[in-house]
Amino acid sequence: MTDEMNQELTRSMPKPTMSLTVKILIGMFLGAAIGLLYNLTFEHGAILQMFGADPANYTNVQSVINSALFEGILKIIAAVFVASLKLIVVPLVFVSLVCGICGLTDTSKLGRLGGKAVGLYLLTTAVAISIAVAAALVVMPGADVHVDVAKTTFAAKEAPSLVQTIIDMFPTNPVKAMAEGKMLQVIVFSILFGLAIALSGERGQRIANIFEDLNEVIIKLVRILMYLAPYGVFALVARVFSTVGLDAIAGIMKYFFLVIGVLFVHAFVVYPTILKTIAKLNPLVFLMKMKDAALFAFSTSSSGATMPVTMETATEKMGVRNTIASFTVPLGTTINMDGTAIMQGVATVFIAQAFNVDLTLTDYLMVVLTATLSSVGTAGVPGVGLIMLTMVLQQVNLPVEGIALIIGVDRLLDMTRTAVNVTGDCMVSCVVAKTEGELDEEVFYAAENGSSSAKTQAS
Ligand code: ASP
Repeated sequence: MTDEMNQELTRSMPKPTMSLTVKILIGMFLGAAIGLLYNLTFEHGAILQMFGADPANYTNVQSVINSALFEGILKIIAAVFVASLKLIVVPLVFVSLVCGICGLTDTSKLGRLGGKAVGLYLLTTAVAISIAVAAALVVMPGADVHVDVAKTTFAAKEAPSLVQTIIDMFPTNPVKAMAEGKMLQVIVFSILFGLAIALSGERGQRIANIFEDLNEVIIKLVRILMYLAPYGVFALVARVFSTVGLDAIAGIMKYFFLVIGVLFVHAFVVYPTILKTIAKLNPLVFLMKMKDAALFAFSTSSSGATMPVTMETATEKMGVRNTIASFTVPLGTTINMDGTAIMQGVATVFIAQAFNVDLTLTDYLMVVLTATLSSVGTAGVPGVGLIMLTMVLQQVNLPVEGIALIIGVDRLLDMTRTAVNVTGDCMVSCVVAKTEGELDEEVFYAAENGSSSAKTQAS
């Protein structure tokens, strides 16, 4: 048999194991199916009624299933999965950022790099919210929603001010910052520490070597933990669908689908356009390689917990060198929330329409500005978008109680917008890397899994 025939045969043979993405997808759909089945049977009662049974007679069965399954086994699996992702975040940011800074051949590059990343993050967020506001003004999702003001209650939470956010970026105690997972503080400390190592000559080099070895170990840890993903995703999604139920969407259908629509436009039109025009990269390759990170984000609703996977995607799949990714990914996870901004844009217009309040052009500009800046100070965890929305609504004197109207579907939207948030982090990482000459295009265009590992360039 010739070599060619041999290769052909190997290619046409079924792969022995399913890819991780397929396993995660199966976990996600099974989770959604079980959650919905439970919801429609017991919470909603439709399935029992279909069989002529009275849901009231089955409350005992429901409570057993709920406490054993959704509040028992699945709760444990979901919590362990999310914890295992979160536990790597601080060591990963610290170690990879120190490595990245040590690897910078020219430390004066740091300022330009930072400026570019922050600029792009803020710009894409401002674009996102502007599209969202414009789309909502055209579609008018809140025009036929009638609000009973007396019945709407929502307790507003405090959102941090911009001044406080800037002050808070600087840690007084790095160990405390790490223990509390204060990402911006960890980033600032890691940059300073990395700079000091880079400037410490031979001794510094010894420490830098240790950090590089540590970086390899942490990357390995991320890979190991990713094997838990299909089970974790199954448990997370099952729990969400067991409580949310789809009837929450019925009343505010227009709002729900408008947010989803704008999220898709941003991910599939705006990002590809930026990638194509500024970085001259093929957006289809980019989107294909985003799938694992997007699925993690979708099921965890947390860009923070997804960060290890986002980092892996940026470096190993897209070829962004560690000097760039170690900085842009953690930064993006913290300050870049385009998906969240889109929800806020649509929600603000929706609430204004539902409460019959006319907003002026200046108000809309305020909305864009406040939402963009507030995204800097809020961490990527589930539900944070609503806290930021409070700030935006207050800025233009809209009733914060309006949030009660949309809270029912927010969990589902949170999943989708978090996927957009992490896609934005990777997109900006690619653009910054490409313009800095730090993107390995061979890795970017290599077939997944078949690529030479980018970690060799990481060092
Ligand atoms: N869950 C989002 C994130 O982690 C934030 C939000 O929109 O609530 O990126």
